[in-house]
Amino acid sequence: MQYVDSVLDLIGDTPLVRLRHVLHDPDAPGAADPTGGPALPLVLAKVEYLNPGGSVKDRIATRMVEAAEAEGLLRPGGTIVEPTSGNTGVGLAMVAQEKGYSCVFVCPDKVSEDKRNVLRAYGAEVVVCPTAVAPEHPDSYYNVSDRLAAEPGAWKPDQYSNPHNPRSHYETTGPEIWAQTEGRITHFVAGVGTGGTISGVGRYLKEQNPDVQVVGADPVGSVYSGGSGRPYLVEGVGEDFWPDTYDRTVADRIIAVSDADSFAFTRRMAREEALLVGGSCGMAAYAAVQLAHELAAEGRDDAVVVVLLPDSGKGYLGKVFDEEWLSRYGFATGSDETAGRTVED
Ligand code: PMP
Repeated sequence: MQYVDSVLDLIGDTPLVRLRHVLHDPDAPGAADPTGGPALPLVLAKVEYLNPGGSVKDRIATRMVEAAEAEGLLRPGGTIVEPTSGNTGVGLAMVAQEKGYSCVFVCPDKVSEDKRNVLRAYGAEVVVCPTAVAPEHPDSYYNVSDRLAAEPGAWKPDQYSNPHNPRSHYETTGPEIWAQTEGRITHFVAGVGTGGTISGVGRYLKEQNPDVQVVGADPVGSVYSGGSGRPYLVEGVGEDFWPDTYDRTVADRIIAVSDADSFAFTRRMAREEALLVGGSCGMAAYAAVQLAHELAAEGRDDAVVVVLLPDSGKGYLGKVFDEEWLSRYGFATGSDETAGRTVED
């Protein structure tokens, strides 16, 4: 018989899928010659929505929880408290449920009811805080999560400072990519949020081969690409501060991508590659395809580019895939999708 003992055993070992249509398109980002152009390198997407909780964050959730158990920070009957409503919340809720911990997520009231309901479906409690109060107000998102985390038996993973976040990628995602490409990877591309993915994977790959180039993809305006943290709409990536989990020495280059390009490319990934992925995936894939065309122009068609796609597009059907939402923010949805404007335009 073939089975696993727990759904947690299904985390990781995600496949690599070759990108074809979006890469060979004459309008691809960075395409030098619309009539054909030079031979293109291989671009392989690591499809993280195939994790059981639906995102790359399952990896950090298990690693952070197991480390907290080993360090005595989380004991039987304990409660995991984290201010998140996104993929990390789903990963933590899944791990908590499987291991018998309680889970409380604190999120601002702007988070959609659908996202809160996913967490509740796993048995987690969701505490919703008003966005319209100052950070020092007792009901603010920050104060409520700090108060809950200070209660007896509570433990706050804090994905922005927890070293087990990048470590999970150093121990799993990096080795998987190295083995899957038989050590032939030349470039690794990933979006940067906490920086856990790029720091952990990048460090592992450079230890195997110092020539591997590590490239971050970042929303225009975020600090990683030299911005001040001004607003952008793509979710899960970019920051307005430098988290401890980001190792500034790992990335060789950061490519800034506009919201318009990220969203248009996300939609193309679904329509042309049949990969229904989230907005940060479209952003990272855009950067990877641009890089591939630059490499082709330099005659480097032997390069092997791996891009990590963190989550599924199903969480964004009312946003990136919704014509009304896109046009409300000034993004084009017609045939010339790359003509969209950023929200500040
Ligand atoms: N994309 C999405 C959708 C995410 O939720 C995250 C995590 N914040 C990232 C990309 C970036 O990953 P990391 O935090 O490891 O930098």
